[in-house]
Amino acid sequence: MTLQEKDLKYIWHPCSQMKDYEKLPPIIIDHAKGVYLYDTDGNKYIDIVSSWWCNLLGHCNPRINMAVKKQIDKLEHVIFANFSHETAINLCEKLIKIIPKGLSKFNFSDNGSAAIECALKMSFQYHYQTGHSEKRRFIALSGGYHGETIGALSVGGVDLYSQIYRPLLLDTIRIDAPDCFRCPYGQCRDECDAECFEKALDTIKAHSHETCAIIAEPILQGAAGMMIYPPVYLKKLRLACTEYKIHFIADEIATGFGRTGKMFACEHAKVTPDIMCISKGLTGGYMPMAITITTEEIYDAFYADYSEGKAFMHSHTYSGNPLACSAALEVLKIFEEEPILKNAQENAVYLNNALKSVFSDFSHIGEIRHIGLINAIEITGFEPSKRIGYEIYKNALKNGLLLRPLGDVIYFNPPLSISKEEIDKAVEICIKSVKQTI
Ligand SMILES: *Cc1c(COP(=O)(O)O)cnc(C)c1O
Repeated sequence: MTLQEKDLKYIWHPCSQMKDYEKLPPIIIDHAKGVYLYDTDGNKYIDIVSSWWCNLLGHCNPRINMAVKKQIDKLEHVIFANFSHETAINLCEKLIKIIPKGLSKFNFSDNGSAAIECALKMSFQYHYQTGHSEKRRFIALSGGYHGETIGALSVGGVDLYSQIYRPLLLDTIRIDAPDCFRCPYGQCRDECDAECFEKALDTIKAHSHETCAIIAEPILQGAAGMMIYPPVYLKKLRLACTEYKIHFIADEIATGFGRTGKMFACEHAKVTPDIMCISKGLTGGYMPMAITITTEEIYDAFYADYSEGKAFMHSHTYSGNPLACSAALEVLKIFEEEPILKNAQENAVYLNNALKSVFSDFSHIGEIRHIGLINAIEITGFEPSKRIGYEIYKNALKNGLLLRPLGDVIYFNPPLSISKEEIDKAVEICIKSVKQTI
């Protein structure tokens, strides 16, 4: 049996209709370096989606590799209740310097969805323990994505992932996310005053007595199709949360660590959330780790004599895993010592210009939107059943580019370390693949 046949014998791949694999078998990656993945047949692919938005500084980054190697010979894992280790402590000390001011308590888990569950429970329990047990619902944006566990799906708004499970989900209050491409107010993203927030505010007011938190992906709704909305919307959302005593949970899992051109997307609006979830780029894309970060004020509502029963009895076996912490700590050292963010900002402009110029006279392009190195190209005018995004993806693979789409939106979300030459190559393969398909 070939490796591919064995794979299909055993493995149920994530987010896949396995029958599709009859025509497009799994690509077995042998090794990777920088932005390139190399398969067992000798083909190479530019990983323009950062292996699901997590690889941050290139595959097999020498510095991160070394940090993890050092850690593994010292301490691979230890229980995190009542025990700790220096790498986790150093990581928090570095994180606190770069996260929005006011956030200072770190609760570790091992994937993004788990960090969201943690945030929802934390907010609920805070209100319960401060005399507001009636505040027990969540408000979330349409099109939001927060992960796949039941709580995270409940606040998510992408039907593709949640529809079937609806009978199992929490009764979430929904507000319309800004849709700047098809703005119902006829405004444009760069100049508007978030007129669309007025309607959201009505909903927030009407439900404030029963709401513990509003959760949102700041500035960029990833899974919705890399939808970008203006900072002024986020500012207004933050103000409303403060006014109506509702926590603002910022899901920075996809946007954190420079993806949008700032270290965290909340910085675009200069807001501090009450709770912030980070994962994905946190470890450079090396290890499953996430952190739910919050304020002293929320932390204090859980701090009491044991007998009062106020502790946050939430845990994950692999909380604070030292190997993951060692990767994350090295990522932050690299940010401190190398001009990663500055280079990424420069290359972001370069990439956007390159895409705009090759697609400028192309029909079927709805919008090319971008923030930081993230660029989304919305293909319009095709029936969803044509799966045009998927067809482009298959052609791009043949041409050496991993361009996994979101429906009919194809996008670039490369490692921040991508070079101009690699950008040129990726853009060239992208346009070639689109032309072969449409
Ligand atoms: C990926 C993602 C999650 C879920 O993280 P997992 O590690 O896949 O569970 C949550 N929110 C956002 C915004 C994400 O992009």
